[in-house]
Amino acid sequence: MEYQLNKKAIFLDRDGVINIDVNYLYRINDFEFIEGIFEVCRHFQNLGYSIIIVTNQSGIARDLYKDEDFQVLTNWMIKEFKKNHINILDIFHCPHSPDSHCNCRKPKPGMLLNAKHKHNINMQNSWIIGDKETDIIAGISSGITNTILVKSGHKIDELNSKAKFIIDSIQQTNKIITS
Ligand SMILES: [Zn+2]
Repeated sequence: MEYQLNKKAIFLDRDGVINIDVNYLYRINDFEFIEGIFEVCRHFQNLGYSIIIVTNQSGIARDLYKDEDFQVLTNWMIKEFKKNHINILDIFHCPHSPDSHCNCRKPKPGMLLNAKHKHNINMQNSWIIGDKETDIIAGISSGITNTILVKSGHKIDELNSKAKFIIDSIQQTNKIITS
């Protein structure tokens, strides 16, 4: 039996990391990529990382949009990444509401653990990049120690954050993730 945990990944939150955070975003027209995201993703690929997106989408449980709307937007987003020579290995989303007690909504680690098992990811060699402390907590709970909190608009409690790195913009990850 061969079972290797060699693959390393960059886990990216979506809203606030890949695109400018708009509440309950589901329309392509409202989706705006954050400056520099394609460059850093190419950098991660060149270092041998797979790129995986993990995103809370409680707007689905709240009936603000449907799972199909999320999928349409996701397919469009993946194509935009492809046009920029970036392959997204997988996308995991939690459609549940905060009071559903599911095990996938961040800060729970469910999506990350699913990704780990599905793709044989070595979490110790992986990174998570988020704009909320819940991303960092989910990462740590799933065995990721390389955590980056990016300040893309949200108020961040820097003193109480468990993130290993706190940065102003996604472009700075180029200098943090170098191998
Ligand atoms: Zn969930």
